[in-house]
Amino acid sequence: MDRTRALLISLAAPEPHRCYLCERESILGEDGLCDGCRNELKLAISPAPPVGLDGLTAGLQYSEELATVFYRFKSKERSDYTPFLAQFISIPEEWHAEMLLPVPLHWWRQYQRTYNQSYLLAEYVSSRYGIPICSELLTRVRPTPQQKLLKEKDRRRNLKGAFRAAPECKGRSIVLIDDVVTTGSTLSECARTLKKAGAYRVYAACVACTNR
Ligand SMILES: [Zn+2]
Repeated sequence: MDRTRALLISLAAPEPHRCYLCERESILGEDGLCDGCRNELKLAISPAPPVGLDGLTAGLQYSEELATVFYRFKSKERSDYTPFLAQFISIPEEWHAEMLLPVPLHWWRQYQRTYNQSYLLAEYVSSRYGIPICSELLTRVRPTPQQKLLKEKDRRRNLKGAFRAAPECKGRSIVLIDDVVTTGSTLSECARTLKKAGAYRVYAACVACTNR
């Protein structure tokens, strides 16, 4: 078969790719999902914001299938999952967001990773909404034990004083970007630190949240 003919055939028939959720070869939609997985996917219904936050959005409800995807994304250096996951992050217009702030090094960081997954997600969100990333607004000043292993009360104590905010956050509307909200204690501590330093509003936009 000559090259032109091969090209024409490849344009006529959509090429099957691997679905981001089930990893099976299939004809995918623009969202990177096969029909079966799209029907299974549960959208999050206006999750309650964690204490100290002025608002929260999360596109998806956390599920076992998603847990596998996040595991690959964070622990297996599968940064190619970024656009797929970032599409579920949304920022409402009424937030009047001025800055995006990827959550710095949270407990998943304890796992062997080579990148901050929140930063990768923020890059996509930034280009979609035209809002700059200001990751220097918050730094983690001390490492903390894995949040996953702690009880709710201990999580809060574990995080106390873990972050330091830069004075540039004063008077600003800031959106924290993260992948998954579980108890929300990390986001709460980030918000508390930013507000103490004078931030006007602190929101969070995430890919998924657990039922809290
Ligand atoms: Zn699928």
